[in-house]
Amino acid sequence: ATARQAVTDVTKTVCTYCGVGCSFDVETRGREILRIQPQHDGPANSISTCVKGKFGWDHINAPDRLTRPIVRRGNRFVEVSWAEALDHIAERMGAIIERDGSDAVAVIGSSKATNEESYLTQKLARQVFGTHNTDNCSRYCQAPATQGLWRTVGYGGDAGSISDMERAALVLVVGSNTSDSHPVIAARLRRAHKLNGQQHIVADLREHGLAKRAEVFMRPNPGTDLIWLSAVARHILDEGWADEDFLADKVNGLDEYRESLAPFTLEYAQERTGIPVDTLVDVARRVATADSVVALWAMGVTQHHMGSDTSTAISNLLLVTGNYGRPGTGGYPLRGHNNVQGCSDFGTINTFYTGYQPIDDPEVKAKFERAYGREFSTEPGMDNHEMVDAAHEGRLKGLLVIGEELALVDANIHYVQEAMENLEFCVVSELYFSRTCEFADVVLPAAASLEKDGTFTSTERRIQRLYKAMEPIGEAKADWQILQDIARHMGHEWGYTHPSEIMDEIASLTPLFAGVRYDRLEGYDSQQWPVAADGTDTPLLYSDGFHFDDGRARLYPLDFREPVEKPDEKYPLHVNNGRVLEHFHEGNLTLRSTGLTHIVPDTYVEMSRRTAEEYDGLATGDWVRLVSRHGEITARVLLSDEVADDQLWVPMQAAEINSLTSNEVDPDSHTPAYKEIAVYLERADGP
Ligand code: SF4
Repeated sequence: ATARQAVTDVTKTVCTYCGVGCSFDVETRGREILRIQPQHDGPANSISTCVKGKFGWDHINAPDRLTRPIVRRGNRFVEVSWAEALDHIAERMGAIIERDGSDAVAVIGSSKATNEESYLTQKLARQVFGTHNTDNCSRYCQAPATQGLWRTVGYGGDAGSISDMERAALVLVVGSNTSDSHPVIAARLRRAHKLNGQQHIVADLREHGLAKRAEVFMRPNPGTDLIWLSAVARHILDEGWADEDFLADKVNGLDEYRESLAPFTLEYAQERTGIPVDTLVDVARRVATADSVVALWAMGVTQHHMGSDTSTAISNLLLVTGNYGRPGTGGYPLRGHNNVQGCSDFGTINTFYTGYQPIDDPEVKAKFERAYGREFSTEPGMDNHEMVDAAHEGRLKGLLVIGEELALVDANIHYVQEAMENLEFCVVSELYFSRTCEFADVVLPAAASLEKDGTFTSTERRIQRLYKAMEPIGEAKADWQILQDIARHMGHEWGYTHPSEIMDEIASLTPLFAGVRYDRLEGYDSQQWPVAADGTDTPLLYSDGFHFDDGRARLYPLDFREPVEKPDEKYPLHVNNGRVLEHFHEGNLTLRSTGLTHIVPDTYVEMSRRTAEEYDGLATGDWVRLVSRHGEITARVLLSDEVADDQLWVPMQAAEINSLTSNEVDPDSHTPAYKEIAVYLERADGP
């Protein structure tokens, strides 16, 4: 071996950014990250990664990593020992629970944490604190998509694998800028489009990368996707193009669904969505005649007050055309974070124990009462949205936040920050002193993904191992150890020595993960849930029927409701928002990566040339202020051909975009209507 090889460690890991679930070897020398090397064995990505997975790792050694616990003393934060921090947490949380009851406290989990850590997050909330008040950031993004799937097909996960997306004859992409947000999936689709004749239909407000090459690109008026989806489904049924055998053999509720489609004529859809009748007929014909169809969707659908219903409309359309249960078919909400799927799967959610076992099911309740040694309520706990309201009203007193940038990413951050001010006691586990830490009484230094063992679950329900590539920085600890330390300080003798033991406990309590074991997940091996006790996993769902007692899917009738916030005379411009390729969400990780920040250093406001003309001839680089009914931001202009006139687009990183958003939510999932913003715009001098 050469000297270089002798000091280089090679460790398999899973990307910490998006839900595609790329895996690769990371080559390290001590804490130095030398190279990211994807392998042919990577089930989601093979030898590909995007720029974030390849170059987005400087955050691990960022100079502002937290290395010791800190506690608030008056107006200052001071470093303390772990023992002192944990004693303080146990004492203050214990006192609140004793005085105000278990439901006066809550735990918010992290979609960046591992599955094992997500399990312990909910176990701490339930067993130690005695409450179902636990939730995660799927409340901000994908909960509506999960609702849509639960209503129609039964499982809250992607119907198949990324290979099914690649195999489909037609891909319908709704409200997903896949090229920037899930780049490796987009690359696989581009290859299928170019080499295999795959058709693409894209509906989006922006004419982004996939849209430019699609056979059909539609730009519906904001918030009207449900209308065109329902009109296309109605036209397919009216013309006799539906898959009648599939509907008769496998689907309930056709008559009622058909009745609910009565208002959705092609003419009505054209009037409300702005999509011409000819285009709608073309889309209906293509979807109905393609051999196999997958639908991909993301925040452009879910972050509306109709997010659940629009997700349901997508799944309804797939059922009408018989596109579930075969290779190359099905509904695929593209999960945002690397482990947002796993965080809910493993029980960090207010209405379910692990594997979506309902808290109000008597057998499930009895099982967890036996396992955790205490009684549980059958009433739902609070979700994130309800926690913020409860903190405002003084009903929620104590909050533990695991790696969630709540103070920036929830909608209407002024309201959220007031709520956090109001908390009596707040603990945050984080890599850096985030904005949320400003509201904390104790901040605990957490290990990053390269510093710990565990598993993540990607968008295709794929559970994969990540291995520790280096020791945690300073005194930082993995969240599973932090959660265990808190439990022990509050009198519970948890004794896990490795995440594999946590997974064994999960498997023993959870039919969905009955056969998930670390010896079946070695290296690049993976399992897609549900996993039977013998280890058999399920790459494609619904080939033997749908996840309901009678095995039949359900068409779900829908109405349309107007967007809650629309442009008017005072606020004439619609604002959309999303990711860019180089950054991830609010940017806490990617803005600490030199290469990525060099390419995209700042945030900006994209607008069309005509809109720029109308506003005093604005040019790229000019500063503008956007003012909504709820707040304002300042950013530079970027002229773009991708956005429509009278619409703006703002990337999420560093913009405090949620100064602009409202408290309005999808009533079925409590996901904020992040994509329903109206603003006026004025020239500004810069920050
Ligand atoms: Fe893959 Fe997503 Fe990571 Fe890019 S960010 S390497 S697409 S998992």
